[in-house]
Amino acid sequence: MCGIIGVVGHSPVNQSIFDGLTVLQHRGQDAAGMMTCDGGRLYLRKNNGLVRDVIRTRHMLRLLGNMGIGHVRYPTAGSSNSAEAQPFYVNSPFGISMAHNGNLTNARELRDALFRADRRHINTDSDSEVLLNVFAHELGRRAELRLGTEDVFAAVAGLHQRVRGAYAAVAMIIGYGLVAIRDPNGIRPLCYGYRDSEDGREYMVASESVALDALGFTRVRDVAPGEAIYITTDGEVYARQCAEHPQHSPCIFEYVYFARPDSVIDDVSVHRARLRMGDRLADKILRVWPEQDIDVVIPIPDTSRTAALQLAYALGVQYAEGFIKNRYIARTFIMPGQKLRTKSVRQKLNPIPSEFAGRNVLLVDDSIVRGTTSGEIIRMARDAGARRVYFASAAPPVRYPNVYGIDMPAVDELIAHGRSEEQVAAAIGADRLVYQDLADLEASVRESNPRLGRFDVSCFIGEYVTGDIDHAYLAELSAERNDGAKAQRESADEGVPELHNVN
Ligand code: AMP
Repeated sequence: MCGIIGVVGHSPVNQSIFDGLTVLQHRGQDAAGMMTCDGGRLYLRKNNGLVRDVIRTRHMLRLLGNMGIGHVRYPTAGSSNSAEAQPFYVNSPFGISMAHNGNLTNARELRDALFRADRRHINTDSDSEVLLNVFAHELGRRAELRLGTEDVFAAVAGLHQRVRGAYAAVAMIIGYGLVAIRDPNGIRPLCYGYRDSEDGREYMVASESVALDALGFTRVRDVAPGEAIYITTDGEVYARQCAEHPQHSPCIFEYVYFARPDSVIDDVSVHRARLRMGDRLADKILRVWPEQDIDVVIPIPDTSRTAALQLAYALGVQYAEGFIKNRYIARTFIMPGQKLRTKSVRQKLNPIPSEFAGRNVLLVDDSIVRGTTSGEIIRMARDAGARRVYFASAAPPVRYPNVYGIDMPAVDELIAHGRSEEQVAAAIGADRLVYQDLADLEASVRESNPRLGRFDVSCFIGEYVTGDIDHAYLAELSAERNDGAKAQRESADEGVPELHNVN
């Protein structure tokens, strides 16, 4: 998963992009980058690491210009090589750079076609570089010496015809402006807004509305699936539907886990959706387990708190904070190797024994993926003196990999793959396990926006909204994502100095 941002302003945008990326840091801690445009010059800083570590004062001083884009990266199927940090850049036509969130499912075919038919060189394994080159090629085919608005939209239409998968992207064209692009399924989020400065109206495009809020921008709306929004350096805004058959299918995992609760995505407050997940989970518990004997509901920090609080309220059971999280430890999920992950859970979360002693506790998490966290936390709850340990997941069983930009493990590393709910309960050591039903999860989100007809729920049901995922693709993905492959890549990846980097 990644976060993207783009700003067209009337004064230097480096600080706004830096601050916006920091607000989007939860979407990726692996690499960060910013590219700004000052007249005919581009300035770039990108590397592996957190925003504040990658972009230092000395870089900020040289990231000049009133227009720019930024990116935070979460590793997906590709490598964690620093040369794959974004934004990417191509010099023809005009000079274009791009930041992308998502994953293209036909990247390999596109890469071949770009090389053979379009005579373009791709320098990394990143599908984002592929996306940029497709856009550049489509633009180059149409534009004359000067770029017209129609050329921009025609290029996006051409891109939609060639590209499959998930892509929310912002492209910056030197001397012209920014183009926000969302795939025809609208899988990954993208919105835009404005802020009035003394010199006129400024615009921002961002993965999540929280970046707009934090910088004093007013959210206008989400970019529609298949739509392109072209914001010129003069502050003119043009919008056009560029896909032939857009069908909105946003990724439901954004609401479950990824997005910040204070964001609004596709007109749905993430916070409110999570509250409803708690409500519906409580309804299910009352339905399937009327004689429940839960003494206390304890969330697994942080994401599940919202759902857990509402669940406890709806059950009429006490809610308590039982685990204290150390914020300064690396995230467990992306650490390669099971041993490392297990050790890290213990370092990250510490129980408060008095909240557990002698009680039947219901632990609540947003989702169970590998089961590492859940299994370890259940053990910790027992060690802390709990009598019985029950577990509830605000999402249904995760049984299939995500191919649209979420770093899910290889399929056989998913604890619910090939297991019934009872078997998962036994595997993680829970006395009882309750999963949210998929229909309830969907209803939790849809309630705020009934126009959301379908969601991408592929990691629960194994059906992929782009319709192009076959067994061979999944097998390849699995080979790239298993722990062995990840460990090998970690040791092989050395930071490659970037041609245009501001060091
Ligand atoms: P586990 O079941 O041990 O794999 O851990 C599941 C926990 O990881 C849940 O609490 C989620 O909050 C979190 N999680 C779920 N999906 C992801 C993901 N793709 N990347 C990082 N963390 C995730």
